[in-house]
Amino acid sequence: MSSAIVVGGGPNGLAAAARLARAGVSVTVLEAADTVGGGARSSEYLAPGLLHDHCSAAHPMALASPLFKDLNLPGLAFVGAEIDCAHPLDDGTAGAFAQSFATTEALLGADGGRWRRMFEPVARHFDDLFADISQPVIRVPRHPVTLARFGARVLPSATALSRVFATPQAKALWAGVAAHAFSRLDRPLTSAVGVTLTAAAHAHGWVVAEGGTQRIVDALVADIEAHGGRIETGVMVRSRADLPAHDILLLDVAPSAAAGILGDALPSRVASAYRRFRHGPGAFKVDLAVEGGVPWTAEVARRAGTVHVGGAFDEVVAAELAVQQGRMPDRPFVLVGQQYLADPSRSVGNVHPIWAYAHVPHGYTGDASEAIIDQLERFAPGVRERIVGMAVRSTTEMSVYNPNFVGGDIIGGAGSPLQTVFRPRVTIDPYATGVPGVFLCSASTPPGAGAHGMCGANAADRALSFLR
Ligand SMILES: Cc1cc2nc3c(=O)[nH]c(=O)nc-3n(C[C@H](O)[C@H](O)[C@H](O)COP(=O)(O)OP(=O)(O)OC[C@H]3O[C@@H](n4cnc5c(N)ncnc54)[C@H](O)[C@@H]3O)c2cc1C
Repeated sequence: MSSAIVVGGGPNGLAAAARLARAGVSVTVLEAADTVGGGARSSEYLAPGLLHDHCSAAHPMALASPLFKDLNLPGLAFVGAEIDCAHPLDDGTAGAFAQSFATTEALLGADGGRWRRMFEPVARHFDDLFADISQPVIRVPRHPVTLARFGARVLPSATALSRVFATPQAKALWAGVAAHAFSRLDRPLTSAVGVTLTAAAHAHGWVVAEGGTQRIVDALVADIEAHGGRIETGVMVRSRADLPAHDILLLDVAPSAAAGILGDALPSRVASAYRRFRHGPGAFKVDLAVEGGVPWTAEVARRAGTVHVGGAFDEVVAAELAVQQGRMPDRPFVLVGQQYLADPSRSVGNVHPIWAYAHVPHGYTGDASEAIIDQLERFAPGVRERIVGMAVRSTTEMSVYNPNFVGGDIIGGAGSPLQTVFRPRVTIDPYATGVPGVFLCSASTPPGAGAHGMCGANAADRALSFLR
């Protein structure tokens, strides 16, 4: 029986382990933290009974993921709020979309038809598209027509694509989804993340895992163990020399950490590419306990699972440019999760868990919590008085919580045009490290960030080919 070690138990490390264990490989996962799951953990850490996702929250990609379809894990349920996403403006109105295009047309009024024409052709075949884009770029696509429709929409910058829309509500709504790219929005390909997420939302809803994102981790762990795999926590791997004997090694770590672990064994061209790999801006996280929920002025935001807080289109674009350039904006772009609307079991009576993070400069050392609450107060006056509990995770704490979040970068690497297409380096096999039998499987490989497990699944497939 062949043996594998997986370093890092985030969703990609666990996905790789599950695929290897099912293929009959003896797998051990070594995780630095005391709990496995990386960016997919949840707990009642703020108050008993009040369930917060520590990191990832919305999981349309898990539903589209070929890996999760293949694993067909029992005990997982995904639920969505009535409205998927709202983006409030200062005049009390909001842009908003729901999974249904008919509802979205009604919500967006004059821009409803344009929104549908932009996203429906991609959403209709979203799972086929995701099967293609969840692989490295250089390969023959299985769904070329769907991919061509997608390509036509994502080549322009997010700023250029916004000109399709006429109303401030739809433009702002688009800016908010595009800003998930953690990138300045006036560069080619910066529409890719926004188009993918919006199409995913229309295909599957911006769903959350019932009982918390942790349930995805628990289901993966159960599957690994059912197939003979083992998980060890509290093990920080610093060098390959520390590892027990193995036939293959998969690294769910940042490229710079892989370079450290592999040391001189790494070919010099790969080592320098890993060390040159650029990380993106940071995330500053605030978890709140809010009595009665957030009193958004725009009523539609009170029904939305996700609320993007950043004001008008130009303001979001300017805030994203500032964080790219290392400047903390006075009014940062803030993402707010109201997962309890879809999954009421996360609340305690009338006290609800609110999940939020702001985009801040890479390695930002200041405290962004007041700026975040000010942004909430701007669109939901009175929210401050309703806050009965709060926990903060700065960019520095983020990278201690999870060493893959370098400088607070939660998407595994800057979303520059080059790194959007080629990550972690320019090569036809991004999972190969150049060391025989050793593969990178973190979100710094294609298809990038998200709890979809596809980086891990793809790397595991390369590792299985190596064993054969
Ligand atoms: C605030 C926030 C919000 C997010 N929102 C979403 C969302 O809504 N939807 C979504 O899909 N994604 C979201 N993400 C992104 C998602 O969490 C990540 O893309 C995903 O977790 C990446 O998975 P991974 O397995 O590559 O790495 P990670 O989840 O980062 O896991 C890596 C694991 O490896 C361990 N590790 C690292 N180095 C070592 C070492 N040397 N030795 C041993 N163990 C090591 C770490 O401790 C960690 O457990 C969010 C992330 C954050 C932080």
